[in-house]
Parts: sequence; structure tokens; C-alpha cells
Amino acid sequence: MFNLPKDLIKIINQSQRMVVFTGAGISAESGIPTFREAQTGLWAKYDPMQLATPQAFAKNPELVWQWYAWRRKLVQAAQPNAAHLALVDLEASLPDFVLVTQNVDGLHQRAGSKNVIELHGNINRIKCFFDASHVIAEQCYDDNLPSCPVCSANLRPDVVWFGESLPEEALRQAFNAAENCDLCLSIGTSALIYPAAGIPLAAKQAGARVVEINLSPTALSEHTDFTLFGTAAQILPYISATFSS
Ligand code: NAD
Repeated sequence: MFNLPKDLIKIINQSQRMVVFTGAGISAESGIPTFREAQTGLWAKYDPMQLATPQAFAKNPELVWQWYAWRRKLVQAAQPNAAHLALVDLEASLPDFVLVTQNVDGLHQRAGSKNVIELHGNINRIKCFFDASHVIAEQCYDDNLPSCPVCSANLRPDVVWFGESLPEEALRQAFNAAENCDLCLSIGTSALIYPAAGIPLAAKQAGARVVEINLSPTALSEHTDFTLFGTAAQILPYISATFSS
């Protein structure tokens, strides 16, 4: 049982234009490891500079490909959890709803969310390392490093690596939604990686209320109207239920 503050229930019920910003924490209860958590995060066990940069891929493409193949299998074996499903209900309850995710796992779409902006790509897609316009396939389940049928360069996962820019149009749409929403929920993100972490701040600056859901305080917490401590799957069903009560 999670008790939402009464003031917050009122704000949620009055919302017409909601932006939800998600990070790795929303998929933690589906069994997908987060990035920066001290004991369980991926970066506690693996060096991102050896696995998640264009330089790493240029140096050792097989290693990077295998690591992503392992993560892709984790993602494909996982199921959306109660938090993903609650966001599907929220989308159905609001006239204007935009879900902006930093996650590459595609679990929001598998749960049934429709208006989803992916800021960091999708692990199930691949693209050419030499020229991203050689888009080859939406899905790739191959464990072996494939090559581009157009130019024979190595294919890579279609995710944003360290040192790379976020997709321009997705970023523009996300900030536009944030600047025009009345309520922004920031869920399961350490809110450290910019420009994505600027999304709830842009909403706040434009006059929206900002609500955070996380296990512990983050870089965003001092700017929020409410920070709710607990797991996303514990809390979000109570937020979506405010519309049916
Ligand atoms: P993160 O690991 O930095 O933070 C996860 C957050 O979720 C933490 O604040 C944690 O307290 C919280 N959390 C954990 N379990 C939770 C739960 N059950 N309910 C609610 N909150 C929970 O992940 P992030 O904020 O998503 O990181 C930002 C982005 O950096 C990532 O999405 C990722 O795309 C990214 N990044 C990844 C790569 C890569 O892998 N190639 C490269 C660059 C950036």
C-alpha cells in the first residue's frame, strides 16, 4: 500500500498534458540491470569505455557486439512490469500524454504505450557503423557480428553510446513536450546524463509540476514538487488509479 499525498492526487487528476520521463530504474523490476547503482548496476561490473563508445567498437567490435547480444537476450526474456503497465493506463486517461525514455529495452512499447520518444535508441535495432543511413533491419537476433550488405562495414546496435549525440528530432520533440506539459513524472533515473536530464527541469521552468519516483534522492530531487521514495512498480499503479477513483 502506498499513500499518495492528497495535494498530489489533486494535481494528477487535474493534469491535461503529462510528460513521463523514464530511466533504467523502471525496468529494474523486470530483471534488467540499471547502469550506475553501486552494487548491481552494469557499470559496477563493466567499463563503459570498453563497451559503450564508438572507439571501443572500432577497437574490438566482436567484444562490444557480444556484450550487446547478451543484453539483448536479457531484454527479450524480460516482461513489462506493473510500472510499465500503469503508464499504459495513464496514457489512456489523459488527452495529451508523451512518454520520453532513456531506455533502449523497448519494454514501454511491449507493454502497450503508444506515444513513446526513445532518446537513446533501441537495442533491438541495428545500423551501419560507417553510415547510419544504411538502415538494415529493425530486429537483429544474431550473436555473431554482422556486416552491412550495402558497404560491408560492421553493423552495430542502434543505441546512443558515450560521446555520441542524441537523435536530434527525438530530443526536439521531447523538449517541446516538456515545455508544454502541466505535469512531468521523472521515474527511475539518476538524472545525471545530459541533455536528457534537462527534460524535467525544462518542464519545471515552463511552469509544470514535477514529481519524481525513485528509491533514493537524485540530482533532480531538489527541483521537484514531490519526490516519492519506493519502487516504480509499487507506486505507479496508485498514480494511474487516481483516474478511476
Ligand atoms: P541509472 O543506472 O543511472 O539510474 C537508475 C536509477 O533508477 C537510480 O537513480 C536508481 O535509484 C533508480 N531505481 C533503481 N531501481 C528502481 C526501481 N525499482 N524503481 C524506481 N527507481 C529505481 O540509469 P539512467 O538514469 O537511466 O541512466 C541514464 C542513461 O545513461 C541510461 O538510460 C543509459 O541509456 C545511459 N547511457 C547508456 C549507455 C550505454 O549503455 N551504451 C551509454 C551512455 C548513456
